[in-house]
Amino acid sequence: MTDVIVVGAGPAGLTAALYAARAGKTVRIIDAEGIGGQIAKSPLVENYPGIAKMSGMSFADNLYEQVSALGVEFELSTVLRIEKGENGAHIVITEDGNFECRAVILATGAKHRLLNVPGEDEFQGHGVSYCALCDGAFFKGHPVAVIGGGNTAITDAIYLSELASEVTILHRRDEFRADENLMERAKSIPNIFWLPNVNIEEFQGSGNLTSIRYTDKIDSSEKVLKVDAAFIAIGQVPNNKAFEEMTDLDENGYFVADESGATKTPGVFVAGDCREKSVRQLTTAIGDGANAAVAAWKFINGESPR
Ligand code: NAP
Repeated sequence: MTDVIVVGAGPAGLTAALYAARAGKTVRIIDAEGIGGQIAKSPLVENYPGIAKMSGMSFADNLYEQVSALGVEFELSTVLRIEKGENGAHIVITEDGNFECRAVILATGAKHRLLNVPGEDEFQGHGVSYCALCDGAFFKGHPVAVIGGGNTAITDAIYLSELASEVTILHRRDEFRADENLMERAKSIPNIFWLPNVNIEEFQGSGNLTSIRYTDKIDSSEKVLKVDAAFIAIGQVPNNKAFEEMTDLDENGYFVADESGATKTPGVFVAGDCREKSVRQLTTAIGDGANAAVAAWKFINGESPR
């Protein structure tokens, strides 16, 4: 039996695995999509203490190497549910087999929120994208749009401004929740244009995306923006549905837990963006991973969590 199974190989899950393995526990990480989670898709991270600039991908690769060197095993599969085993053990049921463990850390992260407008599905992979780092290079020299007003949208726009001929940011309000320093940088880039107060109505094209139809919320007029790509960056929704019976979820579907990540099910802990919290950052994900790992190995050892 494995001591700790970590579900999710983003920064929170990898950090949890690192701390649990360094405490002498056997650890297996299970993730359906590979290593790195959302951070692997972030072109530039500039707010990680001690490292002025890094790519999310290189951060995830380094962390994975560090964890692998400790003997942590990795399983590429989807976790379907977790069942009770004997003597307080847990059985993690995946699409490719079952794994028994003493403690589970759920670091399932979150997935892209969809706009749910006509054409979004049809043009996905043909101009509509949720990952500027993955797909930006396909649109070198072309006009593109970024949809959203948070840190992801503005970071994506800054990144894309070096590739695309022009980047137009469409946002549903005239206030942006992105950090001030990112906003200032984006505003200083001459090929970034701003379209606040708009509702996206439709992605249009024939085979590939050619334009976005939107409503200007100030005068209710309908307009069309010609672009070859639209990068949608409107936040995330947590991947927690499969575990809702063993945990408490808040009204947005995030796990409710204290600082240690403990849930209402003994031996089940949560960490990272899948948790209810006010700041979802690389740094907070990592802090969560460490906390959950310490709580998990204390639980296995029968020690008090405090
Ligand atoms: P976010 O902060 O939740 O921002 C989502 C944006 O999309 C908001 O501007 C929101 O508009 C808009 N939006 C949400 N639903 C929408 C809808 N249905 N239609 C149109 N617009 C919609 O998400 P995020 O930017 O992905 O960031 C997630 C977390 O990661 C944040 O904590 C962020 O700070 C962090 N992050 C950090 C970095 C970095 O520091 N390098 C980079 C990326 C992300 P409203 O503002 O009107 O609600």
